[in-house]
Amino acid sequence: MISIKNVSKWYGNFQVLTDCTTEVKKGDVVVVCGPSGSGKSTLIKCVNALEPFQKGDIVVDGTSIADPSTNLPKIRSRVGMVFQHFELFPHLTITRNLALAQEKVLGRSKDEAMTKGLALLERVGLKDHAHKFPGQLSGGQQQRVAIARALAMDPIVMLFDEPTSALDPEMVNEVLDVMVELAQEGMTMMCVTHEMGFARKVAHRVIFMDKGHIVEDCAKEEFFGDL
Ligand code: ADP
Ligand code: ADP
Repeated sequence: MISIKNVSKWYGNFQVLTDCTTEVKKGDVVVVCGPSGSGKSTLIKCVNALEPFQKGDIVVDGTSIADPSTNLPKIRSRVGMVFQHFELFPHLTITRNLALAQEKVLGRSKDEAMTKGLALLERVGLKDHAHKFPGQLSGGQQQRVAIARALAMDPIVMLFDEPTSALDPEMVNEVLDVMVELAQEGMTMMCVTHEMGFARKVAHRVIFMDKGHIVEDCAKEEFFGDL
């Protein structure tokens, strides 16, 4: 599904990623952890082609990101991404937040996009909030909307970049619960998170990064020493 091959990236003279190689197979749940500044966020942004890299390649569902002829917006539309900060459009209702990209990017009709959006809103437990604006929801609720919005695009893989780090502690679990459910349904996921409880529960593999290197990439049981 995702093949990261010898990826290196620099910001000016600073090397943020060094020769990173790993694979994520269909249905895999991979947790990426490591110290702050080790390149975790940058690595998953490269998978979504949100950040360019100078060496190596990433192949998403058979399409090479490094190939200059690749249509990057098309790849992005198949890869769901959830950030630390929810990045909902503050001036749009939850319903419009859910429908917009479906209409603009996938060409769905207003009705179709709204029906899909509402079904996903129900799934994340927020059906009654459809007509509100993001600012009227709690952080945990906004993050669940962000997950629903990504799912509305029928992604082949979901990327999470510290989705619970900006939340008040009492809201962390409501977001993790949605992620656990997705994982158990077989969604392919790559999650940057410090939530080791989540990793223990649903990860298949854990990648540990340090100073831009993937220093460990192993089965969950091996990572946690449960073997
Ligand atoms: P992590 O997600 O592991 O905390 P990041 O991928 O966010 O790490 O960042 C890795 C390193 O790259 C950090 O030292 C960070 O300051 C640096 N960095 C991130 N984005 C940029 C940027 N746009 N320009 C320069 N340096 C950056
Ligand atoms: P995240 O971990 O979600 O990427 P950060 O706080 O690390 O959040 O970064 C926020 C933004 O600032 C990102 O777009 C990142 O690329 C940029 N950034 C981070 N570190 C640096 C840096 N040292 N120089 C320039 N931009 C940076």
